Amino acid sequence: MAGEDPRDLLLRCALANAVKHGGVPQAGAVIGMVMGANPDLRSRAKEVSALAREVIAEVAALEPEQRRKKLSELAPEMIAALSEKHEHRKVLPELEDAKDGVVMRFAPNPSGPLHIGHARAAVLNDAYVKTYGGRYILRIEDTDPKRVDPEAYETVVEDIKWLGLGITETVYQSDRLDLYYDLCRQLIGRGGAYVCTCDNERFKELKMAKQACPCREQPVEQNLALWEKMLAHGFMEGEVTVRVKTDLMHPDPAMRDFPAFRVLDSPPHPRKPDAFVYPLMNFSVVADDHLLGVTHVIRGKDHIANTRRQRYIYDHMGWKVPVYRHYGRMGIEGVVLSTSQMRLGIKEGTYTGWDDIRLGTLRALARRGILPEAVRNAMLAIGIGETDISFSWDNLYSENKKIIDPIANRYFFVPDPVTITIRAAPQLTTHALLHPADEKRGVRTLAFTGAIVLPAAELGDRTRSLIRLKDLFNVTAEYDHGRPHLSYAGDSLAEARAAKAPIVQWLPVADQVPCTLRTPEGDIIGACEPAVRNELGKVVQFERVGFARIDSVTDDGVVAYFTHK
Ligand code: GLU
Repeated sequence: MAGEDPRDLLLRCALANAVKHGGVPQAGAVIGMVMGANPDLRSRAKEVSALAREVIAEVAALEPEQRRKKLSELAPEMIAALSEKHEHRKVLPELEDAKDGVVMRFAPNPSGPLHIGHARAAVLNDAYVKTYGGRYILRIEDTDPKRVDPEAYETVVEDIKWLGLGITETVYQSDRLDLYYDLCRQLIGRGGAYVCTCDNERFKELKMAKQACPCREQPVEQNLALWEKMLAHGFMEGEVTVRVKTDLMHPDPAMRDFPAFRVLDSPPHPRKPDAFVYPLMNFSVVADDHLLGVTHVIRGKDHIANTRRQRYIYDHMGWKVPVYRHYGRMGIEGVVLSTSQMRLGIKEGTYTGWDDIRLGTLRALARRGILPEAVRNAMLAIGIGETDISFSWDNLYSENKKIIDPIANRYFFVPDPVTITIRAAPQLTTHALLHPADEKRGVRTLAFTGAIVLPAAELGDRTRSLIRLKDLFNVTAEYDHGRPHLSYAGDSLAEARAAKAPIVQWLPVADQVPCTLRTPEGDIIGACEPAVRNELGKVVQFERVGFARIDSVTDDGVVAYFTHK
């Protein structure tokens, strides 16, 4: 599409947007789509938005049927994609106040790489921005130096790139401390917060007894003076807390005058080593949701209590509250998700790294050959429902399979190989298809010269008299003192099927490569076709075994990671 007149691309995108929403095209979404399709146009943003106005007016003047007709002439694939998207739109409920576009955010703490639990907020917020058009802010929430892992600044951004989120801007909260200090001054000025110098234990007792601490009644001027003293490092860690005035009678003690700022003398912040006054999450989240113009927040139910706390700050400041949706809890079994547990395990050598396949990180999924589109589709299917659910790995695998099955080349992998010579067999070279549904992709060549390897598990069953060697011929099995002897038994696939013979993968002894298949349950040692060495980094299907991602290829052989059946 390079070199194409931007007007043509704009026209297609404006038509697609109008057809999708059944209304006039939305400028923000159209321009976003155009820039996404042709990033070179980003440097010509002015010209593109001027052109967009013209094109949008042109499309707006058409009848809905004319728009659809024109789009199917110009870009039939876009009509097809719209009906696919439509499925997702059915799953995701509409958001109120969103039709003019939205501003949303994904706000991870940089404490470690993202895991499958993070993917839900990341993908759903993204999907809504893509539906309605607008901005998608990545906000790195790093105002608790105790929970910052300096490496995570990079890993989180890499993980987000992998997920393919349409992030439009990135902010680091540690760059914004002065903004928070200003807002705190304003909040104190409005009588919405006070600087509390009570002993923490004493404050807790009073709070539990629904009583005000003496600091709560201080005049604003005194609070402002204490705040400046706090900023001038006139207090040490633990000596002072800025508290938001809430409702001391609130039935939930955690709502009563919750903390907004504190002093921390250590550890030093990796990006701001001189900082010592830090906002707590409920303050910095509100400050930024307001300052960045966030319109809609989709987050887990575990934030409902925070939402309640945060409303007090909105009320004190007279700010507009965003639209919130809180989705239900999602239990995830079978993998490790706790960052501290993962970090410890890596340090102690239990796990090989953040992408160890026993972990639930996105990088572990990627290493196993799960594609970001599959994670995305699985999360869209889960949606923003309030019911608590448990995450279904099977659904993720079936989403992944839909994508990789048509792509993955097929090969033989023989687990636990046993060498055996076939008696009375003709020597022949077989050409098995790389993909059964796509002959054009070509073949793998396997030369049979007498001796092969077979999976040990296939030879233990003495009731089997006929075995089909896949893509080769049939053999009969006879056992002599427990040792199998295989003899050539004709080429007919129909005969093998009629006899319900197992169809078994095999490899020529002279033409095999050692291959280790890593699964979360442990390694399977085996051998694979030499051509697998050309698939480094790709997902293949080991016939009868399952999909696997080829992780490394060396002189010692191939290491593959099991993806799923
Ligand atoms: N950084 C917060 C978290 O990861 C998110 C805050 C929010 O979504 O409001 O839990």
